[in-house]
Amino acid sequence: ADQIFKSPLPSVPLERRSIFTHLLGTCPTTPHLVGGFPATAPAFIDSATGLTISRGELRSFALQLADSLQAPPKPLRALLNAAKHTPPTVLIFSPNSIVWPILLFGAAAAGFRATLANSAYTPNELKYQYLDSGAQLIFVHPSLFGVVRDMLTSIGHSESDIRATVVLATSAWLTSVPDSDISQDFSGLTRLEDLLRRGELASEVNFDGERSNETFCLCYSSGTTGKPKGVETTHYNLTSVIDIVKPVWPCKNNQAGVFFGSLPYYHIYGAVKLLLLSVALCAPTVVVAGFDPDKFLEAIVKYRATYVLVVPPILVVFARHQAFHKYDLTSVHMIFCGAAPLSPDLVTIVRKRFQSAGSSAIITQAYGLTETSPTVFLLPVEYANDRVGSVGLILPNLEVRLVREDAGEVLTDIEGAGELWVRGPIVMKGYLNNPTATAAAITPDGWLKTGDIAVRDSGGFFAIVDRRKELIKYKASDAHSLSFSTWLKLPGCLVVPPAELESLLLQHPDVADAAVTGVHSEEEATELPRAYVVPARAVTEKDALSFALGVQDWVAVRVAPHKKLRGGIVLVQQIPKSASGKILRRELRDRAKNDVAFG
Ligand code: AMP
Repeated sequence: ADQIFKSPLPSVPLERRSIFTHLLGTCPTTPHLVGGFPATAPAFIDSATGLTISRGELRSFALQLADSLQAPPKPLRALLNAAKHTPPTVLIFSPNSIVWPILLFGAAAAGFRATLANSAYTPNELKYQYLDSGAQLIFVHPSLFGVVRDMLTSIGHSESDIRATVVLATSAWLTSVPDSDISQDFSGLTRLEDLLRRGELASEVNFDGERSNETFCLCYSSGTTGKPKGVETTHYNLTSVIDIVKPVWPCKNNQAGVFFGSLPYYHIYGAVKLLLLSVALCAPTVVVAGFDPDKFLEAIVKYRATYVLVVPPILVVFARHQAFHKYDLTSVHMIFCGAAPLSPDLVTIVRKRFQSAGSSAIITQAYGLTETSPTVFLLPVEYANDRVGSVGLILPNLEVRLVREDAGEVLTDIEGAGELWVRGPIVMKGYLNNPTATAAAITPDGWLKTGDIAVRDSGGFFAIVDRRKELIKYKASDAHSLSFSTWLKLPGCLVVPPAELESLLLQHPDVADAAVTGVHSEEEATELPRAYVVPARAVTEKDALSFALGVQDWVAVRVAPHKKLRGGIVLVQQIPKSASGKILRRELRDRAKNDVAFG
């Protein structure tokens, strides 16, 4: 049998309580402290306006919201339908905004669950998550209300049902800057401010002891196969990931520093690092919505950012931005990259650029997945310069294995490599309402199968060398050359589940069978989703191009922008499948490297 590797770092004692209590709890004897730090310390700073909320304000707003969630004012009746045996669920559908932490901590304080939805979703994609998560209430940014209204209408909600279900996640009451798109007809809808200033919940709902295994967060991930599934992340998962990352987080001159990044808060990476870890360290997070290279760099300078959290394509911006040298980036202590493979060449280029601008910023990376809350490996800054290309060491309290064979199947030919399995307090409880997928992902003795292939060197440093699962990461893979125009409007960390596009393609009247795979684009420096399609009718050589483009356009109007079939369409006689009918994904991925596609 393969070996079990334990973390080389000392174990840390873990707590069993709610994530709210862990980060924002108070004690009657020290009322001026919130989560052990001064209530007056800044917690979140709105990058556009500079508006700041302190730890004390964050706690107070969250408890006000929690009070309203527990006793919702008219017209919010949908919450009353919540099943008695599970906590109610709120769905958050918003780009990054200063009210995000209030929503998340408010839900936690009320003892509710929160499901976080990709703000690029179409009504159909949102419907899937809304129904699957069983959410009773939707917090929606005003600019996305149209998507929510169309979604709810499509499942038969009347206007009054919509008013019973939706809260506009406005921020004007806080920032004094008018909410975008608020000119739409919002009459009769509850706004966030209507749920505040009505009094605080006396104290947050507790999740002590065994109750800490209650699910709090439901991010959606396709895992190693199939459609997106609700990942049940518990209070204990979250308090644990914070406590095992903290000892390796560098604090320059013992000062907490400033967190900065445009990672979307609906993704576990953004949520845990920018909304939770920063609060745990009493370091403010600068709230950045969307990504614009110049505004991003300007804001780093303006707010003297210390920790800049990125995905690889943002490093490409640093590598190529013409006016990079104009910015004073000396405040940056660490550039922290995650979510996708990071090319060592890119690290070297960016490091040199920072050095020539007089900054000693250290570029490091971490590895994880939604199912592990997310961080498993982290490369401590003191090793970062010598270990470029490694994802780092196993975090405290975790164990990993590199499994070469699973149920008789040989998983990799790479020497010393194996599929990475992870065990420890950060492994999700399971996939929501999906015991079959849960059993396929987690062994009875608690090992989560990541679907990634890794190697370990003699010093205990790991590297990710391949991926055996089917997921495609758009604009989050390593990148050298990039045309900004398309993806920069989108946040990073975008996952395209092939199974979702495949089932959509099968609804096309002229498609008999289909399989979707990722194809690497040098020019765009990312993986692009490509479809292999078996036409349901005879298509002549002359018609092939227009048939393919027709299918591509048909998909484009039905999915969020990052899922468009940018890798083109290949028409085939049949999809390569195993005897049991499973798509042979590796074969497809290998073929995709050489095939020429339409589109
Ligand atoms: P997600 O659930 O969206 O966070 O996606 C998790 C997947 O992203 C992992 O299983 C890996 O395939 C990939 N990933 C995350 N971090 C890294 C990294 N540092 N290097 C390589 N791949 C990564």
